[in-house]
Amino acid sequence: MTTDTLLEVRGLHRSFGGVTALAGCTLEVMSGKINGLIGPNGSGKTTMFNIVTGYERCDDGDVLYQGTSIRNRTPEAIFALGIGRTFQLTRIFGRLSVLDNMLVATQRKESWVRSMLRPTGSASERDHAMELLDFVGLARLAGELAGSLSYGQRKLLELAYVLVADPQLILLDEPAGGVNPSLINQLSEKITELNRQGKTFLVIEHNMEFVMGICHSVTVMSYGCVIAAGPPEIVRTDPKVLDAYLGG
Ligand code: ADP
Repeated sequence: MTTDTLLEVRGLHRSFGGVTALAGCTLEVMSGKINGLIGPNGSGKTTMFNIVTGYERCDDGDVLYQGTSIRNRTPEAIFALGIGRTFQLTRIFGRLSVLDNMLVATQRKESWVRSMLRPTGSASERDHAMELLDFVGLARLAGELAGSLSYGQRKLLELAYVLVADPQLILLDEPAGGVNPSLINQLSEKITELNRQGKTFLVIEHNMEFVMGICHSVTVMSYGCVIAAGPPEIVRTDPKVLDAYLGG
């Protein structure tokens, strides 16, 4: 581990019945960088995210955040440490307004149940929520039901939702998947801007143009292990990576 390592995953193992999802997965996320995580379907990317963020337990191995083990802590404890995440299928509350979704995030820090029952928020919390909606370009839709947003707009709302807690490390699960090209550009710009402000990212994404366009480094998984890591232009031409994608 170097002093620039924010998150370190060491030898993670996880099986589901007879299926091995992670078979000794080891990787480092560098502080202040946009780190990409790619690999064919079923290579263990989401399982790794779920373990890092406390949504699943690991069988063996360790997860270190700023040098301290966070292995098998609860999602709330990990969120409180400054690790935010989005999900492949967004977890937006469709019957709440866009602004109320943001206030749920604000109050999540206090009590998850209370936030769902009464997402009101103080004047300053509402102002902050509106600033973040403005940042992702959704302020004009604050009063609309979140369920009426397009898929890409939901991804932007989820990004704003994660930013409420001001996390240092943000894990994004397929932010560009199913999103139209103009919103993909908007997402890329927002992620790059947040990175310039000091946020570190780990991004699972299948859209190679997106990954190559914004990531400083890329880690490649195959069959539950990391098979390559480094600058995107080098990883892209690595024969092991080409083999993994072509099934060689
Ligand atoms: P990726 O995100 O790279 O597509 P996943 O982490 O979703 O990969 O899956 C890795 C492997 O673990 C796959 O074979 C998948 O079917 C299996 N897997 C993941 N989650 C579960 C689960 N909850 N129950 C059973 N098998 C699972």
